[in-house]
Amino acid sequence: MKTNVRVEERMTEDTWGRIRDELIGTVGRDNFVNWIEPLEFAQLEEGVATFLVPTNFMGNWVSRNFGEDILQHLKTAGNRVSRVDFVVPEPIKSAAPAPEPEPAKPALAPVTEDADLPGAPLDARFTFDRFVVGKPNELAHAAARRVAEGGEVTFNPLFLYGGVGLGKTHLMHAIAHELQTRRPDLKIVYLSAEQFMYRFIQALRERQMMDFKQIFRSVDILMVDDVQFIAGKDSTQEEFFHTFNALVDQNKQIIISGDRAPGEIKDLEERIKSRLQCGLVVDLHPTDYELRLGILQQKVEQHRAQYADLVIADGVLEFLAHRISTNVRVLEGALMRLFAFASLVGKEITLDLTQDCLADILRASDRKVTIEEIQRKVSEHYNIRLSDLIGPRRIRTIARPRQVAMYLAKQLTTRSLPEIGRRFGNRDHTTVMHGVRKIEELKATDSQIADDIELLRRALEA
Ligand code: ADP
Ligand code: MG
Repeated sequence: MKTNVRVEERMTEDTWGRIRDELIGTVGRDNFVNWIEPLEFAQLEEGVATFLVPTNFMGNWVSRNFGEDILQHLKTAGNRVSRVDFVVPEPIKSAAPAPEPEPAKPALAPVTEDADLPGAPLDARFTFDRFVVGKPNELAHAAARRVAEGGEVTFNPLFLYGGVGLGKTHLMHAIAHELQTRRPDLKIVYLSAEQFMYRFIQALRERQMMDFKQIFRSVDILMVDDVQFIAGKDSTQEEFFHTFNALVDQNKQIIISGDRAPGEIKDLEERIKSRLQCGLVVDLHPTDYELRLGILQQKVEQHRAQYADLVIADGVLEFLAHRISTNVRVLEGALMRLFAFASLVGKEITLDLTQDCLADILRASDRKVTIEEIQRKVSEHYNIRLSDLIGPRRIRTIARPRQVAMYLAKQLTTRSLPEIGRRFGNRDHTTVMHGVRKIEELKATDSQIADDIELLRRALEA
């Protein structure tokens, strides 16, 4: 972002004012008030529309979240514009300097100094130190730690999988950081499966397949992120398979991530699936409340220096951990927006402010699981009839699934115990309470029940 802006060209403040108002419909009123209204139009020159913003943080935020919308609206209004830019004006010395909540820039360090190696940059923030460990990710974390010790290769590959935003990339980068320090002698390559494909195609086009093969076969640690990307891409898969085998044969460590278990990735060759399953396959479970709260507390701690004056009211972090329930990236984004907003307006972060400022995120992450869906899924899972599940029969093979369904209804919906009871054939709320307790107990002692519940919960929340 540069400063020094000449104000005014063809598009005027007035025309911007009109276009701006149209953005309400696109971004919603809250976002509009928070982020769009404060923008000041500066100029439109050589296809670049420049706006003044109070802080870099805000500029980055608006650019990332609403840049595309603004551009579209400008174009629709007939402006010849190909880019929007947000700049902070030269500071005018004032009595009360505005806080400058500059977020930690994603410091990207190349994974290796070796210019020939095809690795992607690492995010300096993705370290083990900053990875909060909880029940849902403890196994994945332990496996990652083990691999990061750089000792003898015991499981190959390490396959990490889980839904979006649960920390796969974070863990892979953490392994790479750690290995770089412990074993500077090793050639470590981290890249996404997409980048692997891109390199491969490029090598094909430029007739440099020999080089390509040689480079990838010379690495000591290969990490490929989001492997599901190469599903259905036959020649890339083929090449990946050969690279993979060559490295495994040399006893080089491979670390792969995917959005689901190897066996469940559609359009991935069988031989690759079975190769991927040969090592250690661990999954990152969806976050639970405690983990989310832990992550939020850690983030607050990390930003304490930067937002020294910020006061967060009791219950706000708990509220966020409760309401934004799956994706850590969204959770972090929400917290950063809150920080930015509160420091712009200089207010304490209260529950009210949180609800206002994050209305769109909260709405989007509202759980919409219904009791009917739960009942349907549970009866499918246990292979019993829906009418039995809600009917009066009390034999174990039906009563247990019924309790599982009640438990899930309590966990995943906002329905009260009496309401749940009513939907289960007009049962009393004490029956529901008993069922929920029973399952809570069993979950701790019976791994089959625990697995069933995990599976069902995932299917329902997907
Ligand atoms: P994935 O690759 O699984 O989609 P990422 O690794 O990119 O997810 O994680 C998304 C964001 O959430 C990152 O900013 C990451 O630092 C953060 N994150 C995820 N899990 C944790 C955790 N356990 N502790 C701290 N931050 C986490
Ligand atoms: Mg990722």
